[in-house]
Amino acid sequence: LTTARDMFDAEVCELLLFNSDGTQGRDVRLEGDGASIAATKLDFEDVRLDPREGVWARVAAESRGVLIRDASATRAGEGPIGRLAAGALSVAESKSDDTAARVLDYYRGRGVKAAMVAPLRVEDNVVGTLLVGNRRGSTAAWANADLTLLETLANHAGVAIENSRQADELAHQRDELERSATHDSLTGLANRTLFRRQITDGLATKQPGAVMLLDLDRFKEVNDTLGHHNGDQLLRQVGARLNRLRGAKMSVARLGGDEFALLLEDTPNVDDVSAAVASLLAAFDAAFVVQGVTVHVEASVGISLYPAHGNDADSLLRRADVAMYQAKHGHTRYQIYERQSDPYSEARLALMGELRRATEQGQLSVVYQPQQAADSGEIHSVEALVRWHHPQRGELPPDEFITLAERSEIIHPLTRFVLERAIEQSAAWARDGLDVRVSVNLSARNLHDAGLATDIAAMLERHSVPPSNLELEITETSIESDPRGTEELLATLHEMGVGIAIDDFGTGYSAFSYLQRLPVDEIKIDRSFVMGMEADERKHQIVRSTIQLGHNMGLRVVAEGVESELAQNELTSLGCDVLQGYHIGRPMSADMCGARLRRAAVSRPRVLRQSV
Ligand code: C2E
Ligand code: CA
Ligand code: CA
Repeated sequence: LTTARDMFDAEVCELLLFNSDGTQGRDVRLEGDGASIAATKLDFEDVRLDPREGVWARVAAESRGVLIRDASATRAGEGPIGRLAAGALSVAESKSDDTAARVLDYYRGRGVKAAMVAPLRVEDNVVGTLLVGNRRGSTAAWANADLTLLETLANHAGVAIENSRQADELAHQRDELERSATHDSLTGLANRTLFRRQITDGLATKQPGAVMLLDLDRFKEVNDTLGHHNGDQLLRQVGARLNRLRGAKMSVARLGGDEFALLLEDTPNVDDVSAAVASLLAAFDAAFVVQGVTVHVEASVGISLYPAHGNDADSLLRRADVAMYQAKHGHTRYQIYERQSDPYSEARLALMGELRRATEQGQLSVVYQPQQAADSGEIHSVEALVRWHHPQRGELPPDEFITLAERSEIIHPLTRFVLERAIEQSAAWARDGLDVRVSVNLSARNLHDAGLATDIAAMLERHSVPPSNLELEITETSIESDPRGTEELLATLHEMGVGIAIDDFGTGYSAFSYLQRLPVDEIKIDRSFVMGMEADERKHQIVRSTIQLGHNMGLRVVAEGVESELAQNELTSLGCDVLQGYHIGRPMSADMCGARLRRAAVSRPRVLRQSV
């Protein structure tokens, strides 16, 4: 515009840029002579374009320059607007005097008397117009040569504008690409790539921080019942809630599926981490509404701290994942990573290798914990519990190696080992005249083991043990992980006559609906409710209503973790059927358990009881 102004001594210069459909434009107007900055005015204005109005329409339509000789005083016989370049066409000569009048009105309204307008061309399209108006200090109007010059200038401007437009476009495309490569399209949050980069940046600051991995509980269920579309809807809402936690120190990402992650930077204080976790979990307090359906969603959070738990993004993410897995399975809602319980830590990997050989080398054994009938004090059943006698580390509790086995294929031979031992033992006791049912724990993975039912049938047959003398304990959580798969296996086993118990009852999130679908015989109230129920009214209530629930569904109810006489008495008066716990008897060797069974049988002979 300044070049045009100086070249043509114009008072006013205007650049009008059209949008693609020609209905709207952007007007850039330069006024003043540039002698002083104050006197120079540059205006930007978005204008509506009426195609019947303004010289630009002519210019655009004809793609040629137009000369307006004098918009204020029209001399008779001479058109006020002339096309003086190639075709020497003037508006007055053109078909529509109407158009000419309107054009003049338009410019008069804008304070323009004499003017030249040239098209801005990009390739073959007119994308705008360049106008110079009101020749300064001269009464002589602009001539043909001036218009040609303006057209040339406009051509250069067109190229320049197009270049910058393309540069903008490219920058925009680059931004979009960058965005889609680093952001999740569903929630708009950072994706795994960006999140890893953010962790790396966080590590580089040398300030401590935390990586928090969050996984929705039972999201699969929501997806299955409400459909994928609504599942996506829910994820978007979760993403939006988490996004509100974002701040200077907190980044939020969606890593995929129902897995989200947060990075907490510059937090040397563990209390800050706790506060962040609390606000993270609080984000799930209110229910979500998807398609009018209220959905309560809970989440499990795993946390790794840096630099304590790693100094690269991948190991921090992996460790947060290990902690998240533990939070999920321990129902603790959140968990900070602990090296000693990491199944993938070096020590644990070594242990896994050793566990593989332990079965073959006879390092595993099975102990038995008696289960006593609450009313009669008789012992009709025992629970088989595995033990590992590690050559260097001594006896290891199952909690230290079962989770390890469960995360690998080792759980299959391990379960078969315990089953074989327990069934063998039941046969041995039967030969001694002791009729006991043995319970064996199954892991979630066992429920996907297609060959398990046939193998169990073969073991029972091999040792001539009636299927009713075997019971299998499964947890609510393993049912939740795959309700359909579980159904089939349990149906098969139940048809064979094998008993089914729900272990750790009350710790899952289930709405108990599976109790109607699955062939369950028994529920085992989790020991966390039983231990201390004497002194805790809430626990007492839970135990009481669980017993009622079980009985209403025609199930046998077992209480685990009976540690005192008081608890035993309370449970008995609440109508609990079977008691198991340290107060009744600790897990013990088969020999000791046999002796215990014999004593129980002698002290309370069944024949006697029946005759009473
Ligand atoms: P669980 O199935 O709930 O087994 C009961 C656990 O509670 C046993 O721990 C038992 O020793 C303990 N317990 C029994 N009475 C009391 C009591 O009065 N107070 C307290 N505080 N604890 C009591 P254990 O043997 O350490 O087993 C722990 C878990 O390991 C078991 O929990 C079970 O989930 C798993 N497990 C044990 N053996 C096997 C197995 O052969 N296969 C599988 N898959 N899991 C097993
Ligand atoms: Ca059990
Ligand atoms: Ca249990």
